[in-house]
Amino acid sequence: MALSSSVLATLAEIVGPDGVVSSPEGRLVYECDMHTFYKGAPDVVALPRSAAEVEAIVRLCRRARLPIVPRGSGTGLIGGAMAPSGGVMVGMNRMDRILEVDLPNRCATVEPGLINLWLTRAVQDRGYFFAPDPSSQMVSSIGGNVSTNAGGPHCLKYGITVNHVLGLEVVTGAGDRVQLGGRVVDRPGYDLTGIAVGAEGTFGLVTAITVRLLHAAEAVKTVLASFSSIEHASEAVSGIIAAGIIPAALEMLDALMIRAIEEGIGAGYPKGAAAVLLIELDGPAAEVEAQAERAAAICRERGALDVRVARDDAERALLWKGRKEAAGAVGRLAPTYLLQDAVVPRSKLPAIMREVLAIGERHGVQIANVFHAGDGNLHPLILYDDRRPGELERAKAANEELLHACIAMGGTVTGEHGVGLDKAKNLPLQYADADLNFMYRLRGVFDPDRLMNPGKLLPAHPACGEGFRPARPRLPAGAWI
Ligand SMILES: Cc1cc2nc3c(=O)[nH]c(=O)nc-3n(C[C@H](O)[C@H](O)[C@H](O)COP(=O)(O)OP(=O)(O)OC[C@H]3O[C@@H](n4cnc5c(N)ncnc54)[C@H](O)[C@@H]3O)c2cc1C
Repeated sequence: MALSSSVLATLAEIVGPDGVVSSPEGRLVYECDMHTFYKGAPDVVALPRSAAEVEAIVRLCRRARLPIVPRGSGTGLIGGAMAPSGGVMVGMNRMDRILEVDLPNRCATVEPGLINLWLTRAVQDRGYFFAPDPSSQMVSSIGGNVSTNAGGPHCLKYGITVNHVLGLEVVTGAGDRVQLGGRVVDRPGYDLTGIAVGAEGTFGLVTAITVRLLHAAEAVKTVLASFSSIEHASEAVSGIIAAGIIPAALEMLDALMIRAIEEGIGAGYPKGAAAVLLIELDGPAAEVEAQAERAAAICRERGALDVRVARDDAERALLWKGRKEAAGAVGRLAPTYLLQDAVVPRSKLPAIMREVLAIGERHGVQIANVFHAGDGNLHPLILYDDRRPGELERAKAANEELLHACIAMGGTVTGEHGVGLDKAKNLPLQYADADLNFMYRLRGVFDPDRLMNPGKLLPAHPACGEGFRPARPRLPAGAWI
């Protein structure tokens, strides 16, 4: 859709001429997030520097009835920060200041475009850190983390993003600038902060965030254990948790992933192993020492081939570099992949991993695995080469089958990445139509004209359209798909 010259001129007045991207080649940069499968360039990109500018953009879009798509760093894996219906994309990257660090109250207030890791870097010399640590934390924005309710390796112990957000400032799709929550923990009224975290830009634009800061642990130990089978590694995961140990992180990687990482990064993972566990323990020094020994012993009891504790910070950093850059390392194995983010109860890990192998064989595709084993949050990367006829179709079929296998085992359609365009069609597997309709009406409270991030999060479904009456009983899984 071509925008009128008056809309473009007003946008330039609001954000300044250097804050408007309207050329075809400029807009192309914004046509997708990291799920490059879904493409849709906005008609224009606006780059505000303040909440007042965001408010003015929303007012303009409401007058012109234009879709509004918020975007942080564009590292999402769900087809979220892209514009299938065109409209105005609002890039939040220029709003990247730390507004306040309040150590006595252990919190900080930041603008949404601030890169996750920059906050920890700003406070770590005073002994604090920001806990949510998606593997993309070097590039993803805190606004994007809030909007997708991001997780990360250390969320097993510390919780996901929502557990670290005290308050939000949001410019809603209705054009109101509202404060949700705040630095005082126990606030009267509805927990609107909790509702807005994970809304994926469908309620409005997050313009400021107050987050918790945590005190860094006295000691940290990272243990690497290798196994001859995924089953043994999965049993070790269950054993560690059953022993009452909650590691800061408990990550698993399979043989294919180990190969990719070792060829690409050389993180020191044993090449011949069928699986490795990366176990991180933190806390008071004496407790960490005892827990590391106990975790190592459990791994040996479950048949570990080798158990090694990182000797120093450099070795620890290298082990984590391998894990955090795993998705990039897979580029050595195939030009493209589909990344699944489904979850199973932790006890189902051995069963689902057997199923992953079988699905890969059935569809003739390679599947590399790296995942948050402690949370049962799987990240199978289904490899394909779209230059070869039929490979993409086989990868998609494997992806869909895998998702259904997770649901059948009592899991969920998405863990930490969110819903976006990619998983919207899968939500009815998990929610009854009355539940979907409730979410649809809730969205309308924040965004009555449904201009915010259209097509994302909620599916095209009778429960999400006008005139729905929740008369039907709960649907069997798979209905509406
Ligand atoms: C290599 C790699 C590793 C990753 N590892 C993890 C991981 O461990 N855990 C994890 O959870 N995710 C992970 N991700 C996915 C991604 O990094 C996260 O979803 C992240 O939170 C997205 O942040 P972003 O700034 O890139 O947001 P974007 O991709 O720009 O946007 C994500 C969604 O949030 C909305 N949004 C963005 N900013 C705002 C705002 N200010 N107001 C309202 N809505 C907004 C967008 O419209 C979109 O729907 C990974 C991605 C990559 C590429």
